[in-house]
Amino acid sequence: MIIHLKDSVTQAQIKSAADATQAIILHGEGVKLITPAALKEPPTAIQSLVESFHPTDSDIQLASRGYSSETRTVEIGETTIGGSSRNTVVVTGPCSVESREQIFGVAEFITKLGLKTIRAGCYKPRTSPYSFQGMGLEGLKLLSEVREKFGLRVFTEVRDATHVHDVIEHADVIQIGAKSMYDHGILKACAKTQKPVLLKRGFGSTLQEFVQCAEFILSGGNPNVILCERGIRAFEPKTRFTLDLCGVAYLKEHINLPIILDPSHAMGHAYGVADLTRSCLAMGVDGLLIETHPNPKVAKSDAAQQLDFGQFEQLLGTLSPVANAIGKKII
Ligand code: PEP
Ligand code: MN
Repeated sequence: MIIHLKDSVTQAQIKSAADATQAIILHGEGVKLITPAALKEPPTAIQSLVESFHPTDSDIQLASRGYSSETRTVEIGETTIGGSSRNTVVVTGPCSVESREQIFGVAEFITKLGLKTIRAGCYKPRTSPYSFQGMGLEGLKLLSEVREKFGLRVFTEVRDATHVHDVIEHADVIQIGAKSMYDHGILKACAKTQKPVLLKRGFGSTLQEFVQCAEFILSGGNPNVILCERGIRAFEPKTRFTLDLCGVAYLKEHINLPIILDPSHAMGHAYGVADLTRSCLAMGVDGLLIETHPNPKVAKSDAAQQLDFGQFEQLLGTLSPVANAIGKKII
């Protein structure tokens, strides 16, 4: 249950009301108590402090359309995602920052296309310890330079909670990768900032588990969460993962957070990314995440799935008719 307390409550009353309901205290647009879902009514002892309350039957509370029906608005610099914007933000860039020349080349390409964001990883949570692990802080500093020079908004990933501080300094959106979805150190560190967070779904996680991880960030004080569906593990090995578009329909219906879809990691092969991107766009989502690289053959991570510049430009040129058909605008 979410309890909105009256404006007149004192700190001591907030604390005793939270103790009485085993609640998390959330400040911002008044004071809210987020209690376990099982509680259906505020206890009599605190009823005089309560402005209004919203019972739920699930631990998806702040993210639920039952609590707040409008899709949340997340501002990434001057780019608006979600809310009433009708924008579908195309977020692209290489899987990893690999060198100054590579990331500046991609930034120049993105800028020429008129897009506003770039995404690239510096801390890569790889499956093998023998694969490229990312450039770390050196890569983040290159992203900062790119942001400065091209005015692009930067998305980049944290691999553990100690990276959050540096990513906040050098980037505009903190990406939590699929393998880190359950990392409570990261979730709690992201809750303490107001920076937008792109939370990717763990490939073995249910929708309930996914959105509950978002609840950790929301209830910890950061309302700026964007969900990213990037494919789940099914039994089919011919494609890297299986993009859960039914799950996206569920999220759109029940959850008030903006959604970005990632066809690149789902497919795992460049050949399917264009068709899948158009299908994702047709779902009416708030953003698309597509990996591009100046020369995918030599990419240090996710080489098979990255589009080269020609392929990406061609794909981008096909998106507007799909967007127009569903009242969306590609930015
Ligand atoms: C990535 O975004 O480059 C990445 C590693 O994706 P995921 O966390 O979805 O596997
Ligand atoms: Mn990748």
